[in-house]
Amino acid sequence: MPRPNPRHPNFPIPSGPELRAKGWRQEALLRLLENVLAVGEDPENLVVYAALGRAARNWEAHAGIVKALTEMGEDQTLLVQSGKPVGLLKTHAKAPLVIMANCNLVGQWAKAEYFYDLQKKGLICWGGLTAGCWQYIGSQGVIQGTYEIFMRIAEKRFNGSLAGRFILTAGMGGMGGAQPLAGRMGGAATLVVDIDPERAKMRKEIGYLETIASDLDEALALIAKAVEEKRATSVGLVANAADVYPEILRRGVIPDIVTDQTSAHDLVYGYVPRGLSLEEVRRMREEDPTALMALSRASIVPHVEAMLGFQKAGAEVFDNGNLIRTQAKEGGVTNAFDIPIFTEAYLRPLFCRAIGPFRWMALSGEESDIARIDDLLLEMFADNKIVTNWISLARQNVPFEGLPSRIAWLGHGERTRLALRVNELVASGELKGPVAFSRDHLDAGGMAHPNIMTENMKDGSDAIADWPLLDAMLMCSSMADLVTIHSGGGGYAGYMTSCGVTIVADGTEEAAARIDHAITNDTSIGVIRYADAGYEEALDEAEKAKIGHIKL
Ligand code: NAD
Repeated sequence: MPRPNPRHPNFPIPSGPELRAKGWRQEALLRLLENVLAVGEDPENLVVYAALGRAARNWEAHAGIVKALTEMGEDQTLLVQSGKPVGLLKTHAKAPLVIMANCNLVGQWAKAEYFYDLQKKGLICWGGLTAGCWQYIGSQGVIQGTYEIFMRIAEKRFNGSLAGRFILTAGMGGMGGAQPLAGRMGGAATLVVDIDPERAKMRKEIGYLETIASDLDEALALIAKAVEEKRATSVGLVANAADVYPEILRRGVIPDIVTDQTSAHDLVYGYVPRGLSLEEVRRMREEDPTALMALSRASIVPHVEAMLGFQKAGAEVFDNGNLIRTQAKEGGVTNAFDIPIFTEAYLRPLFCRAIGPFRWMALSGEESDIARIDDLLLEMFADNKIVTNWISLARQNVPFEGLPSRIAWLGHGERTRLALRVNELVASGELKGPVAFSRDHLDAGGMAHPNIMTENMKDGSDAIADWPLLDAMLMCSSMADLVTIHSGGGGYAGYMTSCGVTIVADGTEEAAARIDHAITNDTSIGVIRYADAGYEEALDEAEKAKIGHIKL
């Protein structure tokens, strides 16, 4: 029986032992599709996050996917082209059940305006990174990444602690909504600005945000008090970041850390320019998208100039993966790229060992299954401080959304060992149901994104998209259950290519073989990608783990 979903009553949370599909593998993918809508931002329009990231092209396509997943045998493969099912073909039981290609445009045409046109004609949709391939697990999916970034900054700049530190950021949407909670978990006083009162209200209701201030004066006073008392807090402010950032700078208040997670990548359907109400923006989206694009870019200019001003005054400022620097540069801010991207600034040594956001979803719908896996992690990785610290914090602070799920930054070898052990617990009945594993597309082997993941690679290979394509083919040859290739849509069109993978631990020997091949090979190609670019940590990992890297 599905569980009620207070946030979106029409999208219940799948749970229980009853299967609607012919086997757990198919049922798992069906539940993951239901789950991305249950935890999504605007499920009535199939939008999961990031303004336009969709779970399926339209409701007719959605119905076709559900029908195929319900009726298909284990020896068939469903083909999904940009959110629409286009074929159910006979393959074999070791082949993926679903393969997808979402939003891949030929280079010359990979531009926002072509994307919008094709979307209008109903020929394409954007899958975000994890929306179109049914891997999104709500804001919790990005919390650890945000938390790890904050803690790397703490190590670099503040003797390992964020107590008494002020983080300024913006955006409380599907991804950005994790920021107030991640900041609070790190011990900081975090101010998050969002133009949409509903987003702020919702983050407060689900326990991600503590307080909503009535104006900037109150917000800064609450932050100043928490900083003085070295007390963790999170304060929301409903306002436009392009107004608020310059005003805070003008007042001479310099936060310790500044970033931004508004949907700046999409100048039409994401970012809200200053001076316009939400209603005016919604109207312009339909009536005059070209003018809206220009207004958004013009608003991003002072927004990023203020970020540069904070940087100059000593704050640690970084781009959080929303292309805000790119938009500002196109708007004339020539030094926008003085702001570093978070991946290069803080996380690359981890990616060299394929350490990154790995996630699992309890398909039973039972929170106790995640609690048991938490215990398992603490046992298996007792010496890994990143993991033990995170799991203890997550248990106390991260509310479940949708299917009970967890994310942890695990690397090569660690992911496979965990998933194999979980498969054994499913087989023995210690867990109440199967568990699905996937990872973020922000992944060592799985992403080419020259303004986010692969910016300033040591060998200059930033824009080469061969790696995620190789990864996807490798995942098909390694028996993964779902494999997808995504490229950017909206403002991300032409900016990135990524590969996603899902593997279902249903307790069978076949699942153990799939885990062993797919998860191990997925992290192997991640290490190889960085070893090939000449990173010492990756060369060391490749050598130590004997992963089959060919070094010429
Ligand atoms: P979203 O569309 O769900 O939310 C964006 C939020 O920004 C909305 O709540 C909106 O009201 C607010 N907003 C827009 N313009 C604003 C302005 N000028 N001032 C204040 N608030 C404004 O998007 P999301 O899923 O939260 O993603 C945010 C951005 O982060 C996107 O660009 C996304 O692609 C990027 N992203 C980065 C990572 C990463 O790994 N760092 C991961 C996922 C997404």
